[in-house]
Amino acid sequence: MKITDHIKQANGKTLFSFEIIPPKKGKNIQELYNNIDPLMEFNPPFVDVTTSREEYIYIEKQGLLDRKITRMRPGTVGICAAIKHKYDVDTVPHVLCGGFTKEETEYLLVDCHYLGINNVMALRGDAMKEQKYFEARKGGHQFAIDLVSQIKNLNCGKYLHDVMEVDDKADFCIGVAGYPEKHIEAPSLQSDLKRLKEKVEAGADYVVTQMFFDNKKYFEFVDLAKQIGIDVPIIPGIKPIAVKRHLQLLPQVFKIDLPEDLIHAVEKCKDNRQVRQVGVEWTTKQAKELQKAGVPVLHFYSMGKSDNIKAIASKLF
Ligand SMILES: Cc1cc2nc3c(=O)[nH]c(=O)nc-3n(C[C@H](O)[C@H](O)[C@H](O)COP(=O)(O)OP(=O)(O)OC[C@H]3O[C@@H](n4cnc5c(N)ncnc54)[C@H](O)[C@@H]3O)c2cc1C
Repeated sequence: MKITDHIKQANGKTLFSFEIIPPKKGKNIQELYNNIDPLMEFNPPFVDVTTSREEYIYIEKQGLLDRKITRMRPGTVGICAAIKHKYDVDTVPHVLCGGFTKEETEYLLVDCHYLGINNVMALRGDAMKEQKYFEARKGGHQFAIDLVSQIKNLNCGKYLHDVMEVDDKADFCIGVAGYPEKHIEAPSLQSDLKRLKEKVEAGADYVVTQMFFDNKKYFEFVDLAKQIGIDVPIIPGIKPIAVKRHLQLLPQVFKIDLPEDLIHAVEKCKDNRQVRQVGVEWTTKQAKELQKAGVPVLHFYSMGKSDNIKAIASKLF
């Protein structure tokens, strides 16, 4: 079922969902299941599975460093299929521009269609560590909007190159990213919102936001989006702080602000067990307010162990 239909069917009730990251290659999928199992009691209608960009690794060979390119966490579509069938929930693979040609994206979407996966998040991806700016792969897309258009074309039976009769059209529901504190590369929040509107006009059906720790940022973002005519559901993405290092890491990686009260509370903690508790309390407060405001879904970034998400969800769902 499409995410937008899940939202319609919920009839104003806030739904619970979460995002997971594929294990590093060589690791067993069981660990992922162990983290998902405790969350299933909250009936998530869908689970997102991220896609990681390829990266360079350096292998020493006879005193010289040989540079190879590799994906450390492959398997997004396979994991989506595994979770879908094990738990009977919809799964949402994240599809990236970065590192993929348009043809590879088409094959990935064909796989999804065969597997009955009919929701996808269309994302650009970040620049690789070695790059200052994002660079599309030769024959790949530059912006998420181009990916949205490719998926939309496929929904109309239009493949990239083939001229053929299509009797089994795909029907993907498309999610895109939104940034309550603006995307790092955008010159202003207003111009970033205009780009978001373009993605919606190109065919995006819903938006999931970058994490935020101050609900005011989300509410203002939704108001501004509505004012410029973005009328699709905007799903808040939230994450509990779990370790002290997040105070530096989250602003650096996701270009977001942390509220002073949260910083103080985390700084006062003696160890990461206490930080995890502060994270649970803060996110529970955020989630309760968002739920009260009638957000369509509370989407949790889980990243590993799920005990904190369970503690929050058990107070809300
Ligand atoms: C909910 C969510 C899930 C994510 N999941 C993943 C994941 O699984 N894997 C991963 O690698 N990353 C993921 N990301 C991170 C995302 O890939 C990065 O934030 C990336 O830098 C931007 O992606 P985007 O889809 O928002 O890009 P875009 O929408 O393409 O925007 C990128 C930048 O370009 C600007 N822009 C857009 N269109 C144009 C145009 N036509 N001309 C000029 N400027 C333009 C925008 O304002 C923005 O600054 C996720 C982010 C979110 C919020």
